[in-house]
Amino acid sequence: MPSSKISLKQQEFNDAMKKYHKIPFYQNTYKLISIINITLQIILVPILFSLSISYILIIPILFVAYFLTDFINGLVHLYMDHNDNYSSFLGVFIASFHLHHKTPEYKNNNIFAIYFNESGMKFWLVIYLLGVLILAILGINHILLAILILVGILSSFAEVSHYLCHNSKSKSVKFFQGIGIILSMKHHKNHHNEDNNSYAFLNGMSDFIIDKIAHTFYSGYKNNSDKHYEHYQGEDTSNRTI
Ligand SMILES: [Zn+2]
Ligand SMILES: [Zn+2]
Repeated sequence: MPSSKISLKQQEFNDAMKKYHKIPFYQNTYKLISIINITLQIILVPILFSLSISYILIIPILFVAYFLTDFINGLVHLYMDHNDNYSSFLGVFIASFHLHHKTPEYKNNNIFAIYFNESGMKFWLVIYLLGVLILAILGINHILLAILILVGILSSFAEVSHYLCHNSKSKSVKFFQGIGIILSMKHHKNHHNEDNNSYAFLNGMSDFIIDKIAHTFYSGYKNNSDKHYEHYQGEDTSNRTI
């Protein structure tokens, strides 16, 4: 009985979003996660610059970190787009995440506010950054540590890249999109116009792998999570207005 399952999910979705707007705990949690993530990033930056690494390795390290960031964040996006556990402990956050498909364009904001707001969605990044900090204290290989720290920072920057892709028409942004440093709409439009495609959002360089994983293990969002907000009438959270 797929139709009754979907209407139950639609009800659960609406209930979750009602909680999101009524109970300050949820939006305050986003703020707290942002503050923790950015504090950990600020602690890790001086550690990154103190590492002894040959200049020759800087470009390869940046490339590996860029690829890994694109890939890891794309995988989290893939998982979240298929997560419909709206009645679970984290259900309110899952429901609010899905609204990025309902209204892909963000409310305009400066990129520092976007960096802060969107870092609050990244619960997994708290665990990741804490792990990297512990590894830094333990003293691991400097090349590996540099890559891990860069992934932790670029993961927040990826959200800015996605924002610029949807909201910016500036010439300098178009330039960086054109040379593949940040996400271009030419690449990203497949995610919103089609189904189960192009989840990566730093610059999309890892989508050739993520698309294969998605097509093998996931069914897509157009007939699943995208249906769950069809009867949602409330305010959008596409810029997580906090
Ligand atoms: Zn998505
Ligand atoms: Zn998008």
